[in-house]
Amino acid sequence: MKTQVKALVVGGGAVGTSIAYHLAKAGWDDVMLLERDELTSGSTWHAAGLLPLFNMSFATTHIHKYSVDFYKRLEAETGLNAGFAVVGNLRMAQTQERMDEYMLYASTAETCDVPYVWMTPDEIKAKWPLIRTDDLKGALYHHTDGYINPADVTQAMAKGARQRGVMIERKWQADAFHWNGDAWEVTCTKMVEKGGNLVPSDEQIVITAEHVVTASGNHAQTTAKKLGIKIPAIPVEHQFIVMDKDPELVQFRAEGNVEHPVVRDADAQSYVREERGGWILGVYEKGAPACFEYGVPENFRADLFPLDLERIEAQYMAMIHRIPSCEESGLKDDFNGPICYTPDGNPLVGPAPGLTNMWLAEGFSFGITAAGGTGYYLAQMMVEGEAEIDMASLDPKRYGNWMTTEFAARKNEECYDHVYILHHPDEERPACRPLRTSPAYDRQKERGAQFGFVNGWERPNYYAPAGFDDKASRSFRRGGWWQYAVEEAKAIREGVGLIDATAFTKHRISGPGATAFLDWFTTNKLPKVGRINLTYALTSHGTTRTEYTIVRLAEDDYYLVSAGAWHSYDQDYLYKAVMEKEAEFGRINEQDVTTQWGVFAIAGPKSRDVLNEVIKDADPATALSNKRFPWLSAKQIELGMCPVNAIRVAYTGELGWELHHPIEMQNYLFDLLEKAGEKHGMKLVGARAQNWLRQEKSYRAFGTELGRDATPLEADLPRFVDLSKDFHGKAAMEAKGIRSKCVTLLIDGPDDADPWGREALYDMDGNRVGRLTSGGYSVAFEKSIGMGYVKPALAEVGTKLQVKMLDQLWNAEIVEDSPYDPKNATIRADG
Ligand SMILES: Cc1cc2nc3c(=O)[nH]c(=O)nc-3n(C[C@H](O)[C@H](O)[C@H](O)COP(=O)(O)OP(=O)(O)OC[C@H]3O[C@@H](n4cnc5c(N)ncnc54)[C@H](O)[C@@H]3O)c2cc1C
Repeated sequence: MKTQVKALVVGGGAVGTSIAYHLAKAGWDDVMLLERDELTSGSTWHAAGLLPLFNMSFATTHIHKYSVDFYKRLEAETGLNAGFAVVGNLRMAQTQERMDEYMLYASTAETCDVPYVWMTPDEIKAKWPLIRTDDLKGALYHHTDGYINPADVTQAMAKGARQRGVMIERKWQADAFHWNGDAWEVTCTKMVEKGGNLVPSDEQIVITAEHVVTASGNHAQTTAKKLGIKIPAIPVEHQFIVMDKDPELVQFRAEGNVEHPVVRDADAQSYVREERGGWILGVYEKGAPACFEYGVPENFRADLFPLDLERIEAQYMAMIHRIPSCEESGLKDDFNGPICYTPDGNPLVGPAPGLTNMWLAEGFSFGITAAGGTGYYLAQMMVEGEAEIDMASLDPKRYGNWMTTEFAARKNEECYDHVYILHHPDEERPACRPLRTSPAYDRQKERGAQFGFVNGWERPNYYAPAGFDDKASRSFRRGGWWQYAVEEAKAIREGVGLIDATAFTKHRISGPGATAFLDWFTTNKLPKVGRINLTYALTSHGTTRTEYTIVRLAEDDYYLVSAGAWHSYDQDYLYKAVMEKEAEFGRINEQDVTTQWGVFAIAGPKSRDVLNEVIKDADPATALSNKRFPWLSAKQIELGMCPVNAIRVAYTGELGWELHHPIEMQNYLFDLLEKAGEKHGMKLVGARAQNWLRQEKSYRAFGTELGRDATPLEADLPRFVDLSKDFHGKAAMEAKGIRSKCVTLLIDGPDDADPWGREALYDMDGNRVGRLTSGGYSVAFEKSIGMGYVKPALAEVGTKLQVKMLDQLWNAEIVEDSPYDPKNATIRADG
């Protein structure tokens, strides 16, 4: 057995096998796949094999689409038939709300070239008469997907991998990982059968690998422990049952009719498909427990849990309602197996936190569907440095070091039972909350704050009157909260508002090497002492990795502010870069000060008046004037007894300041500002209004307009890129050119809905030309607004386009950047 390889993939389920295959296909000729038992002996063997294309996420839809296309090609390449039954997927809607959900999804699907058709209840009945349709509104039909045999497709990928030179070693367990500075030394133990159990023998070897990928399925927690990291991949029990023959189904098929599609009754939390004259019923029920929180027991191999029929009774009855002919069919078989989950349902794919050349592919709940695409895109990341799509939404570091086993287990259970809920874009999930709260949380709650969950933090989305029911207010159109966000947005445009931005990620970079390092690490000129700049750290491919507001506190002392949702993601990249460059640039101190500093953003034409009431200064009347505190500068000021690092900048595009304050003084400052704000009509404002306002200013947001699939030049931000200096990713950025360009659009949309930032864009001839990445309502223009990417030739101000919303095309026009106050007059207002 070889002991020196380029890449070692740990785990021979569908995911690991696909990764090994794709690494070889991408040109790595020294790849080994290690499996502690037999291939497919993890979750893969008992999967139902459905390959649903439906997915609300842009990146995941790409991954699923790749898999479905790839599995169709695999037989020609390997000679192995993986049993891909392209029967299609029929997603039925019992309510108009569900149809709204499908319409939003359909617009996203179009942006990923995923085909679909709409079906009426009558069309369904005519084609598949066994399905009851009298209570349906309609359905979305994907005719290009279906189901596959999970073990067979894994074996086909394994054969394809072997044909490309991959070494597959079974009955070897990766037990310890040591980075020797150049490569991983992986201690592996030979596993042997003993009394039906699989146990470690005394035989061990060390394999040296430049790169390691773990795809260990339900063993994710054990793997994380061996790596010394924490990840939220914990399995939940998932069951499906196989029914005896249904005589009416047998007859239907005997008459020459084609197989039923996978029939998804989302409102009844279940899916049904044909299986040898009978039906398989799979469910996403309430009460499915997490398992293996602290690792898989030694004696659990390809085992199953006992069926819990009581737990799925409601779904079983719903199936009989939907397909009445199955009522008499008995139960033939049952499967209750561990299915790995993460709190948001996306797997963890990408570099492991804090480790070099260690890659994770863990936490797959749709792992058969995702395996092909994951292998393809992860191999791109490993071999070429980046994938062609932005993989940030799957990044293993999207949960910070605040994440615990208890959090992950409870959240994963919640995620499981939410698989078939209505996926409102304004949804907030309740489990494990509140967890991370800023000190002013209770005060904000008392004043009606409805909170959102951002990287564990509670952050006000909007403020509503007592008794308002956020959950009941959610919608695919304008939710019940919309009017409150409108009032808040107006308060900032016309008066003054206070936003809690405590969740921001904050780092301090200082020391003799800090200036040279940041100059290399980011695209913009570094600010002078006391000034701030907006700037970008790029990937090695020249696309945007992080957006920073940099404050230069002293010659070699910088305060970096980045998005709150991406704390560990940003930190990992920053720290790894510091580690790599310190020898070259000199000593660099990095300090995470995120939880030491609270942030309030005060904004609006009257914001200076409010601050003037409480600022302590020898000459308070001029302390916040343009002369003493110009736009884009930072100063230490005192508000009452609170020392504040104030930054004159406002993400809402109004006159305003960010007030960075010691977290322990937050309540003092909140009370002070609230009292001072009273006579100026200051309103507490949430993130939803802020999100609309920043679009009126064309301020790009990280995670929507800004990410690893576009350069800052494509984001049309040349003013933050200093081409006269050299910086990381510069040459790659320039080589990319402008593939598509970020624009702002005003939209004449429906009266009761705004875009969410996932919609497809069309030209006036009906050709798809781009997609929205943000959307909302503009109080300044009293219509819908959006930002997105279009082909460069179309990115001219005045170009007329159409936005696909609620299955219709709505007129839109590309407007100049910063359509509200393009000259920044209000931001620069003196006083
Ligand atoms: C009842 C049920 C139905 C499902 N239906 C579907 C479906 O219809 N469609 C779908 O897409 N998904 C479905 N799933 C989910 C799907 O089964 C999983 O997402 C998928 O199998 C995960 O594949 P994997 O390769 O990540 O993990 P696994 O298949 O669990 O493979 C991990 C492998 O890693 C090995 N391993 C672990 N640690 C080590 C180590 N240290 N050294 C060496 N080897 C190691 C294990 O032995 C195992 O073979 C279902 C799951 C269940 C339980």
